[in-house]
Amino acid sequence: MKVLKFGGTSVGSADRMKNVAKIIGSEGGNIVVLSAMSGTTNALIGISEAITAGKRDEALSLISELENKYAGVIEALYDSEDYRAQAREAVGASFVLLRTFPGDKEIVAQGELMSTRLFTLYLHSIGVNAALLPALDYMRIDENGEPDLKAISEKLAVVIDNAGKAPIYITQGFICRNACGEIDNLKRGGSDYSASLIGAAVGADEIEIWTDIDGMHNNDPRFVEHTAPVKHLHFEEAAELAYFGAKILHPTCILPAREANIPVRLLNTMEPAARGTLIDNHLDDNGIKAVAAKDNITAIKIKSGRMLLAYGFLRKVFEIFETYRTPIDMIVTSEVGVSVTIDDCSNLQPIVTDLEKLGSVTVDTDMVIICIAGDLEWQHKGFEASVLDALRDIPVRMISYGGSNYNISVLVKACDKVKALNLLSSHLFNRN
Ligand code: ADP
Ligand code: ASP
Ligand code: MG
Repeated sequence: MKVLKFGGTSVGSADRMKNVAKIIGSEGGNIVVLSAMSGTTNALIGISEAITAGKRDEALSLISELENKYAGVIEALYDSEDYRAQAREAVGASFVLLRTFPGDKEIVAQGELMSTRLFTLYLHSIGVNAALLPALDYMRIDENGEPDLKAISEKLAVVIDNAGKAPIYITQGFICRNACGEIDNLKRGGSDYSASLIGAAVGADEIEIWTDIDGMHNNDPRFVEHTAPVKHLHFEEAAELAYFGAKILHPTCILPAREANIPVRLLNTMEPAARGTLIDNHLDDNGIKAVAAKDNITAIKIKSGRMLLAYGFLRKVFEIFETYRTPIDMIVTSEVGVSVTIDDCSNLQPIVTDLEKLGSVTVDTDMVIICIAGDLEWQHKGFEASVLDALRDIPVRMISYGGSNYNISVLVKACDKVKALNLLSSHLFNRN
């Protein structure tokens, strides 16, 4: 049994939904996880922002605009007037709710609720007796916002049982309930995470992430030409790339699959025959495999003579970040100083004020982490030199290697990102 997740572009129009129906087939009891149709989550966030700003007329006109879009999809998706009427009723419930101006989480949840209702009805219309598994009945996060896998597994088993035996199950990505039972979500791009959690909960044979590109490429195709899909990645390599900016995969999605040892395959809905990328627990000795970039990074340097030959200094530094619940991404140290990076700057000012009690503090904003991932075991020679050689003309603020065998990170200015990504591609991958 597999879990198959289709992202926003893959269900972004009536034709795309029909294509997904062909890919998933009509047997096997697989679970199909859907995102909202592309553009819908952004539109819903726009509606929610208008409501919060007290712009009720603007919100109502945005709601009508979205409703018109769905009317067009319904027209194109079904052949019979009977199914069109059922579909209008199914998405109509969401639009009635939106016009009552509910809370922001309930507003954004409507995207996945609508796409799954439309798609399930489409399957029924072509004779596939699919069953809908309501994610709000089983997907749970705890008081820290972390998925509660035990609760998810137990509740999902009940939900599947209630749905009865079906050739295919459809469910919503992204949406969940929080510890108080309120509607919540797994953050932007979180449908990948849903798929991975569901796969772990049911012990799937494989988790397939179907998107608009033929797998994880060796560099970011939005900024670099002539990128190529990577055939195989270890979970650790994929985790580094996803965390450090490879948008194709949500960073949190790797952990549940890895812990349950379920292979993840990245596949292309526009080109289903392409082999894509397989992510599993095997390591093939291949050196550098791919590059990714993470934006909006701030670097903070703390220098202090008190650090020299002292112990406990780093603990004090880390405690400050802990106090302000701010995760650190990269870290490098010298004998008299430490540089760290963060991407959540909401508490930057109090963090700096507290750090200044420990030493002199320098802050560099608008930075980018470039992550070079692969099987970079330290006994293999030369990969560090290749990376630094590629970046010889770019000012580098920090370099980090040795935290894992799978990545070298370098911190550069945001304005150098595209140049750095291209230089790395031409030096590391396109050397003919
Ligand atoms: P979905 O809506 O299916 O979840 P996303 O837009 O989240 O799809 O992810 C797919 C996109 O990720 C691709 O269209 C591509 O532009 C972008 N992307 C960024 N880095 C990479 C990479 N290294 N390999 C493949 N795609 C990448
Ligand atoms: N629809 C949500 C988003 O756009 C979740 C997802 O697509 O993964 O972020
Ligand atoms: Mg995505």
